[in-house]
Amino acid sequence: MPSSSLHDHIARISARTVAEGLNRGSSGNVSARTAEGFLITPSGVPSAGVSADQIVAMDLAGQAQPGPRPPSSEWRIHRDIYAARPEVNAVIHVHSPFAVSLACLRLGLPAFNYMVAVAGGRDIRCAGYATFGTQALSDRVLEALVGRRACLMANHGQVAVGVDLDQAFALAVEVETLCEQYWRASLMGSPVLLSEGEMDEVLERFKDYGASR
Ligand code: 13P
Ligand code: ZN
Repeated sequence: MPSSSLHDHIARISARTVAEGLNRGSSGNVSARTAEGFLITPSGVPSAGVSADQIVAMDLAGQAQPGPRPPSSEWRIHRDIYAARPEVNAVIHVHSPFAVSLACLRLGLPAFNYMVAVAGGRDIRCAGYATFGTQALSDRVLEALVGRRACLMANHGQVAVGVDLDQAFALAVEVETLCEQYWRASLMGSPVLLSEGEMDEVLERFKDYGASR
């Protein structure tokens, strides 16, 4: 497949995950929906150096178009999200340090900060553990993403989705920031949690936040 501006955008976002400290080495993967399925970063290539021509086209049945590299080992997570969530057009998976640290304790984020609502609900869940690259891991991630745009992954990382690549990337940065804040606050004591009512008010405000700017 000839490379397109979407191939370039995926390669740029992949590099930015490293520049922003969300990934190191070849951890993480990035994809975007297409009319035929989705485009996804190749497996085992350093995230900072993915080139547009290494990006793999796949359909929703999991068939990859032949190319120089195999698709990300986590293609099932990406495929299953596109199949289940029609509003999602981009998926980002990263091994960002604070998200991984909390996920190694099998902790998600409770309502310790109103910004937790950016992921769409009153908390951000931690998906149960399964081996990387398996259907079992994808099933757990999909479960943790119900009603949400992000989740942590036990002993592994985080996943963020969006209507486009920029939105998914911004959410991955926000989730990492929240994980750092929760980690730091927890070192000082037990963070005071917002009530369900307080979070519902935030969720209501988020519906049109930024719409008039
Ligand atoms: P890939 O290089 O196959 O995308 O794997 C990286 C990763 O994060 C696995 O969970
Ligand atoms: Zn991973």
